[in-house]
Amino acid sequence: MDVNDTFSRIWAAFDAGEIVPSCAWCGRVRIDESWLFASPAALAAIDQRLTLSHSICDVCAQSYAPCPQAVRDVERVDVRS
Ligand SMILES: [Zn+2]
Repeated sequence: MDVNDTFSRIWAAFDAGEIVPSCAWCGRVRIDESWLFASPAALAAIDQRLTLSHSICDVCAQSYAPCPQAVRDVERVDVRS
């Protein structure tokens, strides 16, 4: 899938009022079960607030494991000390 395909798929989802999961960490969008980098033009062409749903991709999920609760616990310890 090249950049133009990604553009047309994102645009089609926006046009149909569908939600496209978007990784909040790296910005990839999920299309057909694959996490792909969307072209800046595609993201500029849609209303991201209506179309993109913040999620996390497989790559970032592995990089940032374990769950966010553990991260918050670490931050609380740092504030106290
Ligand atoms: Zn990601």
